[in-house]
Amino acid sequence: MDGTNLQFEEPGGLNPHRAAWIEIDHDRLRTNYLTIAEALPANTGFAAVVKDDAYGHGAVLVAHEAASAGAKLLAVVNVEEALALRRAGLGLPILVLGGRQPEELPVCVENGLSICVHHEDDVRHIAAEAARQGRKASVHVKINTGMNRYGVRWTEAASVISRVAGTHSLHLAGVMSHFSMSDELDKSFAYLQLSRFRSVLQWMESQRIHAQYRHLCNSGGFLDLPDAHYDLVRIGLLALGVYPSSVCRRLTGLQPVMSVKTRISHLQNLHAGDKVGYGMRFTAPDRCRIAVLPVGYGDGFPRVRNNGRVLIGGAFAPLVGGVSMDAVTVDVTHLPHLKQWDEVVLMGRQGEHEITVNEVAALRQSVSYDQLCSWRSRLPRIVINPPSQP
Ligand SMILES: *Cc1c(COP(=O)(O)O)cnc(C)c1O
Repeated sequence: MDGTNLQFEEPGGLNPHRAAWIEIDHDRLRTNYLTIAEALPANTGFAAVVKDDAYGHGAVLVAHEAASAGAKLLAVVNVEEALALRRAGLGLPILVLGGRQPEELPVCVENGLSICVHHEDDVRHIAAEAARQGRKASVHVKINTGMNRYGVRWTEAASVISRVAGTHSLHLAGVMSHFSMSDELDKSFAYLQLSRFRSVLQWMESQRIHAQYRHLCNSGGFLDLPDAHYDLVRIGLLALGVYPSSVCRRLTGLQPVMSVKTRISHLQNLHAGDKVGYGMRFTAPDRCRIAVLPVGYGDGFPRVRNNGRVLIGGAFAPLVGGVSMDAVTVDVTHLPHLKQWDEVVLMGRQGEHEITVNEVAALRQSVSYDQLCSWRSRLPRIVINPPSQP
């Protein structure tokens, strides 16, 4: 998270530390943010959600790019994530999503972090800490419109909002909610949530209570629910060039920022009947050739057996046997020209083929978000295509 495993390197060279790495395409990241910023209506800004190290992409790099594309806010989930952005010199307002223990409040207020409020008790605690420090704390009131995770129920929001508005040591920076389902074809629940949110905003108007930012869209809402854009949309996944679902609206020009690559560390010639790996899960039907790749579930590759594929020499090669902590074995019998240390793509493009994050995620019966966050910091992260004018 503090970027210690971030390396800047020319692509193509052999990494002296490890023959497996994450590649972050800086140019694509920049293009994605500019494309999103351009697609927004004039009165809507965006917040860059860079929690969990920007879904494994490097929070500092992603936040800098978001800032240059005009982000109004950065959003993370932990105080430590917020402080790392501050230490890296990011000056944008930072919203810390989720709940704060009272013990976390002094450092939040001291560092000017924006805090989410879900309950009257939060208001009391934050107001007291801000008063103690002689500062104004910036808060966003989270409205639970049906997600039923965080937030004050929409029918009970009035008292919390008026309390914040009437407290001298608090600044009502935002009123927000979150969609449970914004990226599927059926938008009926999203519209119900929107109408509940709208009822809160209407009440605020009637009371002449103003919040700087009204926001409830994530990437899916930004793409498919234009009525819900308000002042700010919160963009995480989409800026990384990955769509939240297969059915949501497409924006031309977005491309995946992360690739995961390795090299062939060993080649084995097998005879018919030979077994491969732990549990002897694969038996060679005939003479065949196996490439060993120096990555495994210890790096975040799904722990599958005889399932999945990689790209080598511009072609797909199927996994055989089980994925171990530090090794993956693939059948390369059909690719006789391969050599040791040839490049292999686990996720991303090679030649005219691509293995998407969704394909890798499906191996663990999961979604893109989960797979992006699953690649571990044990893999060096290399930034490619840095802009010539930083
Ligand atoms: C993670 C998160 C987002 C970003 O969602 P994406 O689908 O990645 O754009 C937005 N809002 C909240 C509250 C979140 O927790």
